[in-house]
Formats: sequence, C-alpha cells, structure tokens
Amino acid sequence: MATILIVEDEHEMALLIKRQLEGDGHSALLAHDGHTALLLAAQSQPDLVILDWMLPGLDGLTVCRRLRDRSPVPILMLTARVDEVDRVLGLEVGADDYLTKPFSLRELLARVRAMLRRVELLRRADQADEGPLQLGALFIDPLARRVEVHGSEIELTVKEYELLLLLARHPGRSFSRAYLLDHIWGHDYEGGDRTVDTHVVRLRKKLGDEGERISTVWGVGYRLEA
Ligand code: CA
Repeated sequence: MATILIVEDEHEMALLIKRQLEGDGHSALLAHDGHTALLLAAQSQPDLVILDWMLPGLDGLTVCRRLRDRSPVPILMLTARVDEVDRVLGLEVGADDYLTKPFSLRELLARVRAMLRRVELLRRADQADEGPLQLGALFIDPLARRVEVHGSEIELTVKEYELLLLLARHPGRSFSRAYLLDHIWGHDYEGGDRTVDTHVVRLRKKLGDEGERISTVWGVGYRLEA
C-alpha cells in the first residue's frame, strides 16, 4: 500500500482517480492547485505523485520541477496533448512517466502499479548486498548461501549460485554473456559464451517453475524477471 498524491483541478476527475487508487488498496491525497500540492507533498511524503499539467496558478511543469528539486518521488504526469510528452519526459522537468488525456482508469492503475513496482525493486536492490532476496517463490539468503524454491532448498554449484545471485540482485536488467563471463568466471576464463548458456540451462532446470524467471534476451544474454 502506498500514499499517492493526486494533483488535478478538475474535481470530478480527481475523485475518480482517488476512488480507483483506494480500490487498489492505496491511500490517496487530493490537491486542486500547485501550491497545495507542494505543501501536501512536503507534509505527507507521498510514494508517488499523479500530476496534471494544466493547473490554475502554478502549472504542472513548475510543480514537477519543484518536487524534483526536493525529492526523487516518482511523478506520473497527465497531459492533454501528445506533443507535450517530450517536454514532460525531458530532463527539463523530470517526470517518470506520462499519460495523455483521455485515458482509462485501468491504464492509469497499470502505470501506477508499474511505477511503484520499480521503486520497490530499486529499494530492494539498495538493500540487496547482504539481505535476503524474495522473488515469487524463489528465496535467496546470501549470508547463508542458501537458495529455496517453494520453501525447499536447492543445491547449486558455486557458479550457478553466483550467476543466479547476480541476476536476482538486478531483476528486470539484461546482462550480456560477456558481462556475465567477466563477472562470474573472470577475464582469464577461456570457456566462451557457451559456458554461460549451459549454466543457465542447468539453473533453470534446478529452479523448477521459478526457473522460467530467467529469460533469454535475444542477441544479448539473460535477464531475471521481477
Ligand atoms: Ca487540469
């Protein structure tokens, strides 16, 4: 559950969004103008801000910029025109994502979920150096060097374990075979790309249904899905 600040001067639209987010288990705050938005953001430290471009007084771009100056809070910008998108996403403003009006509440919810998931993954990656990792039914405890799937311990070789840990610490990120070879087998290793492939095949098999998390990225290498 997250705290989400909705900044939208059209009251009816703001309420619709609020209800939708609350239905998804979040708590939502409303601001109908930019000044109130900045005040509420400072007071309540939201996990995400949904921000309309067209606002009375301070416009959405200015609000976005000021929020950005203070915190890395993810910002989903609402805009009425496609040709504004470049400015929204540009470094100039620093929004993380956008939706053009009109949009469906379902689409909005999907974006919000995706953004919150990314934040959670980054937070997890920050803590991941030694702390345990849980991805679905896959559990890794780096301190104990222990891997479990559905609560049962899985025996892995040293290289299989290191490969899994590297991928799992960065869910969603693609790694090239060359990178994996360098980081797990070392620069001097002469086995070549096939080494990575055969290890991935064995790892997938040992992890059972959780092995499907390891995706092949064509022409690149591998990625562990969040
Ligand atoms: Ca508006």
